[in-house]
Amino acid sequence: MLIDSHCHLDRLDLGAHNGSLDAALDAARARGVGHFLCIGVSADNAGAVKQMAERYSDVDCSVGVHPLDLEPGAAPAMDWLLSELEHPNVVAIGETGLDYHYEPEAAELQQASFRLHLQAAQTTGKPVIVHTRGARADTLTLLREAALPQAGVLHCFTEDWDMAKAALDLGFYISLSGIVTFRNAEALREVARQVPADRLLVETDSPYLAPVPHRGKPNLPEYVRDVAEYLAVLRGVSYETLAEQTGANFKRLFPLARVNLHG
Ligand SMILES: [Zn+2]
Ligand SMILES: [Zn+2]
Repeated sequence: MLIDSHCHLDRLDLGAHNGSLDAALDAARARGVGHFLCIGVSADNAGAVKQMAERYSDVDCSVGVHPLDLEPGAAPAMDWLLSELEHPNVVAIGETGLDYHYEPEAAELQQASFRLHLQAAQTTGKPVIVHTRGARADTLTLLREAALPQAGVLHCFTEDWDMAKAALDLGFYISLSGIVTFRNAEALREVARQVPADRLLVETDSPYLAPVPHRGKPNLPEYVRDVAEYLAVLRGVSYETLAEQTGANFKRLFPLARVNLHG
């Protein structure tokens, strides 16, 4: 089953679908997308992502605070995060992580928040969705320090093979977005060829970074099909095989997701 493992349904630019989220989701379903994981980025949007999951049985969600959405000087409260994670459709924690590319000055605060999310993962057993940019060493250090018994995912992966290998060794999955289709992404394509078939996920990260041939337009969940078709060619497998592998991986990583692979 083709699954968009990371999309921001509450932030889509729906101009191409006359402002209708229903139409956008239907367009994705028509292209074979069987499930969507709608990602939390802040306390402010936790309600919106939970509503998406309550409204659509093929949407689940995560709750967390993105490293670039932290309140100045304050990591989120553990009580708040744990209570959000009690919701049955909140199947994962995040996105959390480190982004020194855009906010290097907030590194310490980002680390405190990342550690808090990792503790919540330890407490609840729910998998963590990690955003990492310009922070390879610290991301790996904190993940090693957390030593989570359950797997997690590095989403919208843009790093090199050494980073991928280190994350794979920690039991993590690698999720690839439309960035792998970009002309200058040769190093990432090398990673995409090498990730083991049982550790790969696909995502859009919509509304950001639409894949070729939609580059420059607002990204939509239906374009995960373009990412998957591109990766299938790159990896020398059929599209059907790639969709089946990544769908099974999604269900293994997010066991609470309402995915029925054989339905
Ligand atoms: Zn991200
Ligand atoms: Zn995201």
